[in-house]
Amino acid sequence: MVGVSGRAFPGAGPRHGRAVRSGGVFPLPHHTNSPVKALLEVVTHGSTRLCPFGLVTLKVWYTATSYPKKSAPVRKWPKSKGLLFMFQVWKSLLEVYDLNTVAKDIELPGAFILGAGAASSKILGVNAELIPIVQTKSEKKPAVNGSYIAQINPADKGCLLEKYSSKYTDCEFGLLANLYASEGQPGKVIEVKANGRTGELNFVSCLRQILEKHYGEKPVGMGGTFIIQKGKAKIHVMPPEFSACPLNTDEDVNNWLKFFEMKAPLICQPVIVSRDPGFDLRVEHTHCFSHHGEGGHYHQDTSPDSVQYLGYLLPAELLFRIDRPQETHLVGRD
Ligand SMILES: [Zn+2]
Repeated sequence: MVGVSGRAFPGAGPRHGRAVRSGGVFPLPHHTNSPVKALLEVVTHGSTRLCPFGLVTLKVWYTATSYPKKSAPVRKWPKSKGLLFMFQVWKSLLEVYDLNTVAKDIELPGAFILGAGAASSKILGVNAELIPIVQTKSEKKPAVNGSYIAQINPADKGCLLEKYSSKYTDCEFGLLANLYASEGQPGKVIEVKANGRTGELNFVSCLRQILEKHYGEKPVGMGGTFIIQKGKAKIHVMPPEFSACPLNTDEDVNNWLKFFEMKAPLICQPVIVSRDPGFDLRVEHTHCFSHHGEGGHYHQDTSPDSVQYLGYLLPAELLFRIDRPQETHLVGRD
């Protein structure tokens, strides 16, 4: 742990009494402009290892009017309210959470939630990647679930991407998730454009490592969305069944997952924290969807010469940890 110590997480939700067993909340430095400065500094003073893109521009935009309208999932954008992290271990395969409960637990009912997680296998009957886009319920309004799910198509073993609301009416998810919660209001966002990758790291790892390099032990969390405008990307989708044998190494996990090369435009939802303040976190997690039937978990673009990224991000004020794994492990964290 660094400087500030976490306080106990405030109670469990009514429906999922066991949902918030252990965890904590950690204040993150909230200076909207500082991460911009950090990123700019690295970009302009050049660290090609950390920022392996041919052209990177950064600026602060007010509201999201410049975002490509066709691709915007919901016309609402993260304001400065909270980064929510959740994580579950493999042994709790059947744990189920509800985004409405989570929003209440972090004292942000009606929160707008983006990020990366797993769909509830209890609801679907199979594993699926969840690309959550949810306005949770509040006293005034019912929940609006604009999420996508990506699963293996039983017919052709390809990727099957569907709107969650085309089949289900709940806001549940399972296993694990890294989520960014906001009030869903327009506000200042950081725009990042990057073209032509020249190094090994993916776009999200670059952003995270730049922040880590600049802030050192002080964790900085960010969430938002970016679009892969041109090129292709390596994306995984979980197979329908859980593995019959335990997945003990990254190699085991990679052999179990199904990998695809998917084409732009892909709309991605990154959740990152520059450094783990001692909560046993996955420090980056990005899921994506598209309007051409592809989506899943983002690993890397596969077209470094032609790739183009355009992202809008915002630093978070608070990091919540829900259900910390009882035993730590380093498998499946990229
Ligand atoms: Zn994932």
